[in-house]
Order: sequence, then structure tokens, then C-alpha cells
Amino acid sequence: MVFSTKKRFIAGVTCPKCAVMDKLQAYSEGGVDYRECVSCGFKDQMRVSSMPKEVQTRVNTTAEQIAMQTSAVRIIDPKG
Ligand SMILES: [Zn+2]
Repeated sequence: MVFSTKKRFIAGVTCPKCAVMDKLQAYSEGGVDYRECVSCGFKDQMRVSSMPKEVQTRVNTTAEQIAMQTSAVRIIDPKG
């Protein structure tokens, strides 16, 4: 799951069906990501494997960094 359950417009993306720009919304439903065109009603499932690999790595790194920072805070917390 990449997107929130709340529908969000994807800026600069053209609909593959009606070729209208900025009409595609991305959202998650049941853990699956979808894109939907508000202009023609086109709906398509987005696969995680089609997402850029760079984004995945960046997300993982950020999550690891946050986890490390969290444990560091716990260690030096005098209340701990
Ligand atoms: Zn469309």
C-alpha cells in the first residue's frame, strides 16, 4: 500500500484512456493501490512493482532511520 485511502490527484499524469492530464486520482482500497480518472471513469490497479525502485529504497531507509532514532532516544531517556 503506497497511497492513502483518501483519493488524491496525481499532478502531471495523463490518463491512459482519454489522455486528459491532471484528472487521475490515486488511492488505496483494501491494501491495493488504484488510479482512477475522474474525466472518463477509467480505473486501474497500480502494482507496487511498477513503482520506481528508488522511492521504495528511500522509504525503507527513512523508516530504519526513524527506528534507530527512536531507540537512541529511549536509551538516553532518564525516565526510562
Ligand atoms: Zn480518462
